[in-house]
Amino acid sequence: MKQRSVLLSLLSLCLLATIFRPGVGASTQARPEARKIAVRCGRLIDGKSANAIANAVILIEGDRIKEVGDSAAVAGHVPGAKLIDLSSSTVLPGLIDCHAHVLANLKDLSPTRSLRTSSPQGVLWGVHNLQIWLDHGFTALRDAGEDDLAYGQLALRDSINMGLIRGPRMVSAGNFVSVTGGHGDADPLAPDQALPRRPNLADNVDQVGVAVRRDLKYGADWIKLMATGGVSDVLSDFNVQELSEEQMAKAVEIAHRARKKVMAHAEGTEGIKAAVRAGVDTIEHGTMLDEEGAALMAQKGTWLVPTLATFQRLANPDPSTGQTDAETQKTRAILRFQSAAFQRALQHHLKIAFGQDDDPDFLDGEFVALVKGGMKPAEALQAATVNAAELLGLSEQIGALEPGKFADVMAVSGDPLADIRNMEKVVFVMKGGEVIREQLPGEKSHP
Ligand SMILES: [Zn+2]
Repeated sequence: MKQRSVLLSLLSLCLLATIFRPGVGASTQARPEARKIAVRCGRLIDGKSANAIANAVILIEGDRIKEVGDSAAVAGHVPGAKLIDLSSSTVLPGLIDCHAHVLANLKDLSPTRSLRTSSPQGVLWGVHNLQIWLDHGFTALRDAGEDDLAYGQLALRDSINMGLIRGPRMVSAGNFVSVTGGHGDADPLAPDQALPRRPNLADNVDQVGVAVRRDLKYGADWIKLMATGGVSDVLSDFNVQELSEEQMAKAVEIAHRARKKVMAHAEGTEGIKAAVRAGVDTIEHGTMLDEEGAALMAQKGTWLVPTLATFQRLANPDPSTGQTDAETQKTRAILRFQSAAFQRALQHHLKIAFGQDDDPDFLDGEFVALVKGGMKPAEALQAATVNAAELLGLSEQIGALEPGKFADVMAVSGDPLADIRNMEKVVFVMKGGEVIREQLPGEKSHP
């Protein structure tokens, strides 16, 4: 009995010490018993330097990186740590996709998909899709907007943060702010069958304010504007500017005042420049970027998320996707501008981050497309790590393997600096110190 009461008082002292420790949240606190893991790396690409480091060890405590260094130097600091041996692999920071659409069946590209998918069904597809992002080593993503008026993507984001479901860290846009009949008008029906007008449509400056404030009210981190027509829809023309510069400037003013950011879908030349002048934070696609536009982006520090591979893939789509012939023709037409525009972006040293904008089964194709388009492999990897973290405003937390950051780690077999196609050979994924995927020897690299 005496022993038991001593134990109890010790326990309550510990509890009190925990409760009254000033300014330290229980969930983020590195307690003495926090699990220690030592990851032995064959090759380490830390996200910051262009070269790989041989024979490094990453020491992880709880959900954070404690130390990164030469195995000889770190070896003495890891008694009691669980060893994860990746000495035959290349270890990188968890990857970040800055242009994802997580809801719905992403193999269904028919124009009526969203009309046949309820919000709950879309969210369940989202839970499924997010596991594919994780499996490919993507431990964070930005949802680039959805047409779900119930904001299923924000429910997914919050559920991941609460630990209800497993998924990458998410930041998310709300609905697509679009003109009537534009790239973000989800109603392709005949005039006498039309759906009730949706709150994401905005045909003047005041209506933009209303649409943006609705997104902010329900918790969007980013505002998504449709600056031009698009490719994957049956209504719009990608050459044409849709939202006016004044409309986009109003969206930027309201979003920035609320400390949120603005991303603009922009394909055609004039729409890209109008969006940049209006002050958006990121240009998505930028497929017809011209010299003047590139110079303007460089001057204003606007990010580019080029999403190259999806256009290349959907120029010859699998017929089972239900993509219409009109969309296939648009894809082929815009592809003729893509390479020259990306070259301009590189020549003007624009800030570029990785974004895929496609079914996550094809995620690795974007690395290949970036390198074929003229980036060095190290630059393509930085686009998906340190640069993407900066775009998301999360540089303090993710995007590099260094002390203090979240232990978001992925590994591939082979050397992606020698051949970027090795990025598809994922063997290990960890998010916040939790092992998500660990491939046994002889296992196939992808499910
Ligand atoms: Zn998109």
